[in-house]
Amino acid sequence: MDKNELKRKCLETIDQYKDQIIALGEDIYKTPELGYKEFKTTERVAAAFRDNGLEPETEIAYTGCKVSTPKQDGPRVSVMGELDCVVCAEHPHCITNGNIHACGHNVQLANLFGCTMGIMKSGVMAELSGGVDFIAIPAEECVDIEYRDSLIADGKIQFYGGKQEYLRRGGLDDVDMILQCHMLEMEDKNKLCTVSTDTNGFITKTVHFIGEGAHAGFAPSKGINALNMAELALNNIHALRETFRDEDKVRVSAIITEGGGLLNVVPASVRMEIMVRAFSLEAMMDASHKVDRALKAGALAIGGKVEIRQKIGYLPMKADRRLSRIYRQNMIDFAGANEDSFIEVYETAGSTDLGDMSQLKPCMHVWSGGVTGGLHTKDYRLTDQEAAYILPAKMLALTIIDLLYDGAKEAKAILENYHPSFTKDSYLEFMKANSKVELFDSSAL
Ligand SMILES: [Zn+2]
Ligand SMILES: [Zn+2]
Repeated sequence: MDKNELKRKCLETIDQYKDQIIALGEDIYKTPELGYKEFKTTERVAAAFRDNGLEPETEIAYTGCKVSTPKQDGPRVSVMGELDCVVCAEHPHCITNGNIHACGHNVQLANLFGCTMGIMKSGVMAELSGGVDFIAIPAEECVDIEYRDSLIADGKIQFYGGKQEYLRRGGLDDVDMILQCHMLEMEDKNKLCTVSTDTNGFITKTVHFIGEGAHAGFAPSKGINALNMAELALNNIHALRETFRDEDKVRVSAIITEGGGLLNVVPASVRMEIMVRAFSLEAMMDASHKVDRALKAGALAIGGKVEIRQKIGYLPMKADRRLSRIYRQNMIDFAGANEDSFIEVYETAGSTDLGDMSQLKPCMHVWSGGVTGGLHTKDYRLTDQEAAYILPAKMLALTIIDLLYDGAKEAKAILENYHPSFTKDSYLEFMKANSKVELFDSSAL
């Protein structure tokens, strides 16, 4: 069958499921759950699949579920919809604990379901090579850390991010590329979506300066002042800022969470939290190294100790341009878009765990319209059901058809031109090596 015929069949099928797609998105909006707590949400998505005769695999990354087309030769594409919500107690639709889908993940899940129906119920797979995994993935927002640390301590997960965890568990071993959409207000009403997105990655550091207490009046000469170490360290970090290149979008944020005990005692214990963000892996590691140096120099000057607990959050995202272009073309061919309907590249200093995936596999990340109000804020609302729930479902499905048609020629070409920063093993090794605790003791120097 001709490719455009396949596409039309797929679009018709998605239209037949319109009511179910919208109902799913609206239902999930009523039960927002934070990452790795998405039990009801997973069940609702799984039920939508089951109601339509599909057999979802569940608990894929502690929570989450997926359905897959049968294995056959050729590249495997995955589409992801995220399960978790955010907290915004000022949002009028939030539930009692402040939980609210103010990042539009309920819409993503509706898109995922619609796309699944379009590909699996239209019969188009019979004409395509390779395969597709439709994945409802947990925990994109890097929040609620205490709870996630408890899951890590109990051996239930190893990563804060659901995609990181799913990758570790082998879920993406046979997946070659990932497609995903988020919903964002299009401030310029002529724009229908952003085509490619690049984001910062980040590293967190929990810092403990350890000195020696002494009476601040009688005997400050006997103390080792941990607050002075922290102050010097902050100044050192500020002195480094001119070494960060504009294009690397480096942000170093620091707060003092414990500044000393009693006013008349030389502070022996001072704690800080630091976040280092940057636009590329190299810049992120470079800035992190410099910050460590600054922290140690603060301790060194005073003759104290500093313990640095470091953890990699998410890696920078570089969306695959060739992949995004296919979605873009479908918007022109099937959604009434023209050359001026797009924001071609959206660069943001925010972060997502799709960033990690983009360092290993070609990833597409589109921001689609149909909502108003800032992400994660009290004003975030869905305003256009067709644009938010239905259109991205269709465009994702059409993108899959383009990728896997004609012996999956397009998907193969994208893979040939893609150069990963890591293999799965080297990624896991890198994450492990850079999640570390280091104690710098200058008292003997
Ligand atoms: Zn978000
Ligand atoms: Zn989000």
